[in-house]
Amino acid sequence: MHYKLSGRRDMEGQPQLELQINGHFNLVCQRCLGALAFDLDAAAVFILVPDESRMPQPEDERDDVEYIVADAPIDVRALIEDEVLLSLPLAPAHENVNCNDALSAAKEQKESPFKVLQGLKLNKD
Ligand SMILES: [Zn+2]
Repeated sequence: MHYKLSGRRDMEGQPQLELQINGHFNLVCQRCLGALAFDLDAAAVFILVPDESRMPQPEDERDDVEYIVADAPIDVRALIEDEVLLSLPLAPAHENVNCNDALSAAKEQKESPFKVLQGLKLNKD
């Protein structure tokens, strides 16, 4: 994984950080539990605010940036971890054609009538 963190000031002179993350992740498909390669390409802008009292009101917050109170050294590692977690899919899954589950789902459908019968018989006993 590669990341680039750069600092700059916006047009109003407010300091901000720009974080870019590129990486290749090996995820697990939530349908077939097979390996799933995922290329992450994420970017985020953080506006640094000197203290809590200078945080913008919710209605003034911009949607495309995040705000950080910079009253202590910034934990860059946590910043990157958060951004990676936000950018990864919550429930990663293969495209249907690549997913092993598409095959096993077809198989299960064929078997299901027998499973249902089995279940009925057991319930009667
Ligand atoms: Zn899959």
